[in-house]
Amino acid sequence: MKTQDYINREDKYGAHNYHPLPVVLDRGEGVFVWDVEGKRYFDFLSAYSAVNQGHCHPEIVNVLISQAKKLTLTSRAFYNSALGEYEEYVTKYFGYDKVLPMNTGAEGDETALKLCRKWAYKVKGIKEYNAKIICCAGNFHGRTITIISMSTDPDARNHYGPYTPGFEIIPYNDLNALEKALNDPDVAGFLVEPIQGEAGVVVPDEGYLKKAYEMCKAKNVLFIADEVQTGLGRTGKLLACDHENVRPDILILGKALGGGVYPVSAVLADDEIMLTIKPGEHGSTFGGNPLAAKVAITSLEIIKKEKLAENAEKMGKIFRNEFSGIKSDLIEFVRGKGLLNAVGIRPKRGKTAWDVCLAMKENGLIAKPTHEHIIRFAPPLVITEDQLREAMNIIKETFKQFE
Ligand code: PLP
Repeated sequence: MKTQDYINREDKYGAHNYHPLPVVLDRGEGVFVWDVEGKRYFDFLSAYSAVNQGHCHPEIVNVLISQAKKLTLTSRAFYNSALGEYEEYVTKYFGYDKVLPMNTGAEGDETALKLCRKWAYKVKGIKEYNAKIICCAGNFHGRTITIISMSTDPDARNHYGPYTPGFEIIPYNDLNALEKALNDPDVAGFLVEPIQGEAGVVVPDEGYLKKAYEMCKAKNVLFIADEVQTGLGRTGKLLACDHENVRPDILILGKALGGGVYPVSAVLADDEIMLTIKPGEHGSTFGGNPLAAKVAITSLEIIKKEKLAENAEKMGKIFRNEFSGIKSDLIEFVRGKGLLNAVGIRPKRGKTAWDVCLAMKENGLIAKPTHEHIIRFAPPLVITEDQLREAMNIIKETFKQFE
């Protein structure tokens, strides 16, 4: 079968809820993936930052295989011998009392919203069911009905109503709007992405997170950080909140927690918040299974052992220096932190970011547009300087084709 045959088959039998770049991947290793015809590409999407440790990291794959041969799933109706080890490891790693294990990022966000509401009624003393959670325009927290109820993206929302109430949307990176919204005594939490990834790598002003955190504290409102995309080394620190020394009251992790091989998400919080949920009140059949537990421990070990955050910081600087230094009327802006970067493309002669991505693919590098004119560049964090320079040459040569 050739590339087009694979595409036709997906098109015929799969729902059309994605619009993939026309490349059919078959194999991956580190920063590279190969298509079904054997052509090699630099992966500059990293499965939306789920593959921070690189494709098929041997240690992660080995732990996956050995645990898969031993015990994979028990449900939480019983204890298993791996979950406690992971719970101890992940809570000490991030410095929280407790973890609640889930599978996907959206489930992590849903869990955080439920925790926040429960805390509002049981601890803060907000009248049932008046609790409100503040969120930001341009957010992306996943695809459930409740999560898209917070969304401002018409593609995510339209025709999926009625929506879940209890959210107040304010502009991102706007402390005045936050201050106003926090005056409502029914506000229980503020849910925020430290950098808005899906919105096009929108980096807030320096000091925004710190000030927002302090404002929340002053009003006894929980600061909830969605670090599903920004966490685990991606932005040059273990967490993006670490850039401003902010410790979220509720921390949501996903994507690279599963090392690119298995869906693992987690919500971390201290006892005052976490113990408001009692047995039987929330959970998931697969959350906290032994396979996920072992994979997550190894995924986290690798981030520290291979100094992936430090590498992201260093490589990210090289990337932004290179592209900010280029004089090109194609490039509108270059922005980002660590290895979560975006280049804004000025549409020329009807050409969009999609056309640029298609051309980059031909030249051996895959990336995906977010919105019509922004391309996100987020390679696995294991990328070396030589590999980065080779990849940047491909991007620059492609841009030249559009000048
Ligand atoms: N939160 C953020 C910030 C994300 O970027 C994403 C996915 O892109 C999610 C949540 C949802 O994660 P998942 O697709 O695993 O449900």
